[in-house]
Amino acid sequence: KIVALRAGRLPGTPCPGVAIVLHDVTELRRLERLRNEFVSNVHHELKTPLAVISACVETILDGAKDNPNDLERFLQRVSDQTDRLSNLIGDLLRLARIESGLDVFDMAKLDVAKLVEDCVREHSEVASAKDVRLEIIPSVDAVRVEVDREGMRTILDNLVDNAINYTPCGGRVWLRWLSENGEAHIEVRDSGIGIPEEHLARVFERFHRVDAARSRAAGGTGLGLAIVKHLVQVFRGRIEVASVVDEGSTFTVHLPQA
Ligand code: ADP
Repeated sequence: KIVALRAGRLPGTPCPGVAIVLHDVTELRRLERLRNEFVSNVHHELKTPLAVISACVETILDGAKDNPNDLERFLQRVSDQTDRLSNLIGDLLRLARIESGLDVFDMAKLDVAKLVEDCVREHSEVASAKDVRLEIIPSVDAVRVEVDREGMRTILDNLVDNAINYTPCGGRVWLRWLSENGEAHIEVRDSGIGIPEEHLARVFERFHRVDAARSRAAGGTGLGLAIVKHLVQVFRGRIEVASVVDEGSTFTVHLPQA
């Protein structure tokens, strides 16, 4: 425990005395540390692509522009880093809006089967390009949840994107849903690289990555799961993860049934 100590005269007391006030500032210090870490992470994440862009432009101006192959190579790098910056800024703004309660949600009772089917359809091309089998395990349960359509899409998109990204070629990603005790459970499971146990509790933290190079190579910002967790909470639900290294991961979203 971190304690702040203040000593002084008791105000309004006729006789002199000493008051000692103890404040438990452990939580304040923790929040302060998290905020500082976040600011330094944002700084680093923004600085790195900008430095690459600046170096590429300099190299082009210094002579690479005269060689068409070099020019194309450096322009491609500029384009990749610009995409990275744009994804990062988009995710940062999204997270800030959700956290500050500024996002407006258009809540509606929606059919889980339809949401899952739409998501799988949208990701089928990316999955087959990587030779990952993306499928739905049919369910007999007709489940509806009260959510914002765009927000729910963001949740499923992020989970399925990750499942595909962190699953090697030839692997499998499958989705299913069921109803239990008035709750809808939506499961995104993969046969991918898995998450070591010591990272499991932290993957929902902003910028926490198991392997930063791998995440960046896959176009990740390190903010996807933090956004997912916040959105699930806005919809009065919770998210859980279970994983075995080299066998795969399962992310389960629990939502109240509509
Ligand atoms: P990123 O943009 O890095 O993917 P996320 O917030 O979506 O950021 O995920 C945080 C980290 O959790 C990832 O960098 C990765 O290490 C790990 N992770 C997320 N989903 C999976 C998964 N399905 N399989 C293995 N690791 C995962």
